[in-house]
Parts: sequence; structure tokens; C-alpha cells
Amino acid sequence: MELIQQITGFQPGTLPVRYLGVPLTSRKLSMKDYDPLIDSIKSKLSIWSCKYLSYAERLELIRAVLFSIANYWCRQFLLPHSVISKIEQLCCRFFWKGNDKSATSARAYVLKGKELWQMEAGPSLSWSFRKILKLRIEAHPILHNGALSVRQIWKEIRMKEDKVPWHSLIWFPQNIPKLSLIAWMAMIDRLPTCDRIQRMGIVSIGSCVLCNDTLENRNHLFFECPIATQLRVQTLLLNGINKTISSWEDMISWASCTWKGKSLLITILKLAWSATIYVLWEERNRRIFKGCSRNTAELLSSIKDYVGIKLRGGNINRLDYVNSIQSLHCLGY
Ligand SMILES: [Zn+2]
Repeated sequence: MELIQQITGFQPGTLPVRYLGVPLTSRKLSMKDYDPLIDSIKSKLSIWSCKYLSYAERLELIRAVLFSIANYWCRQFLLPHSVISKIEQLCCRFFWKGNDKSATSARAYVLKGKELWQMEAGPSLSWSFRKILKLRIEAHPILHNGALSVRQIWKEIRMKEDKVPWHSLIWFPQNIPKLSLIAWMAMIDRLPTCDRIQRMGIVSIGSCVLCNDTLENRNHLFFECPIATQLRVQTLLLNGINKTISSWEDMISWASCTWKGKSLLITILKLAWSATIYVLWEERNRRIFKGCSRNTAELLSSIKDYVGIKLRGGNINRLDYVNSIQSLHCLGY
């Protein structure tokens, strides 16, 4: 050794040394040798713990960063069970609590060793936890049927109903998601219009903010209201249709029966219908919550913008001229 030292000038060292971030040793690693791994995870956690992160963000950090640190070590050594448990504990605490404090209060504190399926929904429990306990009656048969993944559970609980006739008026590839969502909610009458809010027992003004004339409900806001009527008549006229429609139901059944196929005209009609509903709902909310308003011409131009965005986006074949002429014939024009 002395000779080698003299020739090479190297200084003798002692194991373990760190090589590529992991300890290099001639013997089996002791628990203490894994401290750098635990410390590097802890140092990441201490940086993250001062940030306000959602559960999804924490989960992503655990998956992307912490697991890759642990995986790197796993490639060189067989990690002892105790080290794996320690890492899992750190990840668990960070996920539930956002820091390195004990996460027991998330579950064990509430359950206090009781079985979830047997425990009583006492007043000491939080509102949300009592709600969860109430759902046990519904959850039990589903989980008992063997549905364990989210996908299977969704299949079990979703309402299986036949497609409604107006399905294709709202759900078509060229529609803009936010328009189809609001239009769909209007179709199934789930938007919080004043009549529905009053039925829920919440006091509100009640009259339509677009005309200040009558109680606001779905049929009025999107069909009977003078502004809604003007927008509907004008968008139909822009597409060469001059038709008298007597009610919301009439409008839906006429559109469901005649707006069929994928022609340019049909796509424009459907887009304009979704956009009209969206713009009316948006205008209603602006007037209520922001106190500002637009006139019918401005609303119409907003509808045209929505249709235009899609036409300019190139999703529709503008040379689809033959189809549009055919559809005009189908509609009786
Ligand atoms: Zn009105």
C-alpha cells in the first residue's frame, strides 16, 4: 500500500464513500447508511410544505419526484422493509397533511378504531363525514357487487337512460365545450334560474333581468323573453330560415326533427343555438352580478363570433356547398 501511495500519490480513504449519490461499502448497508435517502426526501418535503398545494398536486410531486429518488436507490440496493415503510410514511404524511407531521388525524382520529361500516353518525363528526356515512347504504350493495375501480363504480351508479331526441343538437364534434355544457343544462332545466332558486327555498328577486317583466324560468329566459326571441329570429334569418315557433318545446322538437346530418348549414344552426343559450345565460349573470349590460345587437355579434371561431378554425368544410343546398331543401326552403 505504501508503495502504491508513493507511486500514485493517492490518499487512502475509508468506506463507505458516496458514489453517484449512493453509499459504496464492502458490507451490507446498515439502517444508518440509508439516512441520505431519507434526508433527501425530507429536504424536498420541507421545501414543498410551505407551498399551498392541492391533493392532486401533492400526489403528482410524490409520484414524479419522491418515487424517482427511491427508485434510483432501489436500482442499486434491495431496500429494507423498514426503509420502504419510512418512505411511505413520509409520502403519506405529506399527501394528507402537506408536511412531515403525523397524518393519523385524517383517518384514525375520526374512526377511533371503529369499523367504518358499523359506526354511528354522531353529532361530534363533521358535516362532510356524516354525509359520507349516510351514503353507506347506497355504497354497500355497489361495493358488494364487486365494483372496486372508479370506472366500475361509475358504471354501477350512472343513470342508464335512453338518448334524448335532442342529444345531437348539443353534443356534436364542432360544438364548443362551454357552450354545449350550458345548453345541455338549459335543456334538462338545471340552470339556477329564479324559479328553481325559489323552489329551493332561497329568496331572490325573481323577475327576468333581461326584460324585468315576468318570473325568470328556463322557458322564459331562453325562449319567451323578447331579447331571446329577437336573437332566435335573427340567427335563423341569417341562415335563411323564417319560421314561427310557438314554444320552447316546439323549438326543441322542430330542431331535433330537422337539424340532422353533418352539413355546414346544420352545424351552423346547432352552433348558433348553443351559442344563443350561452350568451343569454352569460348576459343574465352579467346583469345580476356585475351590473352591466349589452344590447341585442352586441349579443347577436357575440353569437356570430362563437360560430365564426369554429368556421375559421377549419373544423368545417366550407366548400360543403352541395350539402348545405340539400339541407335547405330538407328544411323546406
Ligand atoms: Zn325576460
